[in-house]
Amino acid sequence: MMTVKYLDLQRISASFEPSLSQAIKKVIDKGWFLYGEETHGFESDFASFCGARYCLSVANGLDALTLILKSYKDLLGWNDGDEVIAPAFTFIASIEAINRAGLRPVLCDVSENDYLLDVQLLERCVTSRTRALMPVHLYGRSCSMNQIKEVANRYGLKIVEDAAQAHGACYYGERVGHIGNAAGFSFYPAKNLGALGDAGAIITDDEALILHAQMLANYGMRQKYVHDAKGLNSRMDELQAAVLRIKLQRLDDDNHCRQQIARRYLKEIHNPFVTLPYQNAEKEWESVYHVFPVFCRHRDKLQFFLEKKGISTQIHYPIAPHRQVAYRELANQSFPVAELLADTELSLPLHQKLTEEEVSYVINCVNEYVDA
Ligand SMILES: *Cc1c(COP(=O)(O)O)cnc(C)c1O
Repeated sequence: MMTVKYLDLQRISASFEPSLSQAIKKVIDKGWFLYGEETHGFESDFASFCGARYCLSVANGLDALTLILKSYKDLLGWNDGDEVIAPAFTFIASIEAINRAGLRPVLCDVSENDYLLDVQLLERCVTSRTRALMPVHLYGRSCSMNQIKEVANRYGLKIVEDAAQAHGACYYGERVGHIGNAAGFSFYPAKNLGALGDAGAIITDDEALILHAQMLANYGMRQKYVHDAKGLNSRMDELQAAVLRIKLQRLDDDNHCRQQIARRYLKEIHNPFVTLPYQNAEKEWESVYHVFPVFCRHRDKLQFFLEKKGISTQIHYPIAPHRQVAYRELANQSFPVAELLADTELSLPLHQKLTEEEVSYVINCVNEYVDA
């Protein structure tokens, strides 16, 4: 029996050799591990990749989002408990960042069509205390940014993009992360652009924001041992930056491979019990498929069926944020689409090094499933 891993990081890392090992060796030999040539080089490479003026490298994606919100809060005089609107279906970090910045997450349900912030519902969530919108480009697809911008402009709100799953995705010619006022990226190993550990970045054109975030990320220091604010320690290692610079060169090609595999899934999976993800007709808005989600009424059964065939899958995500114990305060609301997705989503194997045979095997097995 064939076995297909959900994600094969060994295969992916091997495909970058010997460059990866050489880059790591170079950092070791140089003996400089933080705030050096590699992090600054990566910041400049990633800013140009996104078409943005500034990039700040930080320790992880959660810090990137938190630092953006804390910085706007300081710079624009937002108060504790001011509100940020986020989708009711996302990885918990989006919500956690809002809380860590001392702000209040207000959830808006997602659309059944594309699983992203429902722009029809968005305006109803705005109150006199709303300060920002946080669209999450879930599974690698850009949110409907034109409509989100309209709402932001109408009420004078900032747009903070959670781009942690959408490195390189485009929205009508613009890179995700360079559409709102600022964006947080994560380079967690499993992301489309992944480090060999934790790493993250902020992307923006806003100079005041990037300078403030940089100060906060470095213990609130502008000058050594002079602390202007109560900051935190959030740095990207030189080692991770060196690795990311190499992987970034191939990101568009790797995303293209993911899209090719996704197109095969979309074309060749035919099973009345399995619903395929929505596909944008426009090429300029195609997902970079961080995740390829399918939906099935008896999702756990489908997962078990595939597991028996040697295919590993994942669930993104089994419990919506407002149903988490940690967020009891959000529990008195209901978000029907978020809850439906949490109950029915299953992510099929998808990465740039999946072979044609493996993809065919997954397709055949999914097509064999009977929901009886
Ligand atoms: C991965 C992820 C994050 C957080 O990134 P970390 O680097 O793990 O802190 C934030 N938001 C979303 C949507 C993510 O998928």
